[in-house]
Amino acid sequence: MSDPLTIALSKGRIFEETMPFLAAAGIVPLERPEHSRKLVIKTNHPDIRFIIVRASDVPTYVQHGAADLGVAGLDVLVEHGGEGLYQPLDLQIAQCRMMVAAHRDFDYAGAVRQGTRLRVATKYVKIAREHFAAKQMHVDLIKLYGSMELAPIVGLADVIVDLVSTGSTLKANHLVPVEAIMEVSSRLIVNQVAFKLKRAEIMPVMDIFRQAVSNGLNMKGQNG
Ligand code: AMP
Repeated sequence: MSDPLTIALSKGRIFEETMPFLAAAGIVPLERPEHSRKLVIKTNHPDIRFIIVRASDVPTYVQHGAADLGVAGLDVLVEHGGEGLYQPLDLQIAQCRMMVAAHRDFDYAGAVRQGTRLRVATKYVKIAREHFAAKQMHVDLIKLYGSMELAPIVGLADVIVDLVSTGSTLKANHLVPVEAIMEVSSRLIVNQVAFKLKRAEIMPVMDIFRQAVSNGLNMKGQNG
């Protein structure tokens, strides 16, 4: 028998919102990642398994062929660069926006008008760099790995670049969105080589996702 198809997913929102797509075709995990420390999760389908990795590592596993397919946010894909990946489908899950946000007392429009050199804290260095370069603004990028909302409060940065869903995290930290950068949702990604060599196995799985998207089987509206 050939190796099972491996699908790379991250724990939490992406795992939970991806399951209904596969469940519609009768494919269910034998364990839940939140109840198990296992990183390889079998399904009731002998030819399909999941691996659980950090969200930002999903494209890397798929790029190098350690997983055949994966589900990753557009934010993560843009930061990764997309090399070696085929991105056939927008799953329309985990929808949010990449935004510039500032403290509510900070005059962002004034700073832009005056050409002020801004300090920008973010996990999304590539997206932020490209955004401000396109606006011909000079910025100092400060790479963070989390809790970006803290940076303007303690004076580490003037603005942040982060994902915004409901806006409640910004609000709780006295921040306001000042500029939208892009709409973000999660995409199905496929290793380009696997797509050629394992086409017969991969196509039916892609079709399951495609069918589920067209049936509106995502969890849109049910999750924040
Ligand atoms: P919210 O308070 O609903 O606006 O959510 C904002 C927080 O959740 C921020 O810390 C974001 O980085 C994170 N977040 C929101 N949407 C997503 C998403 N689709 N994927 C990953 N992180 C997200």
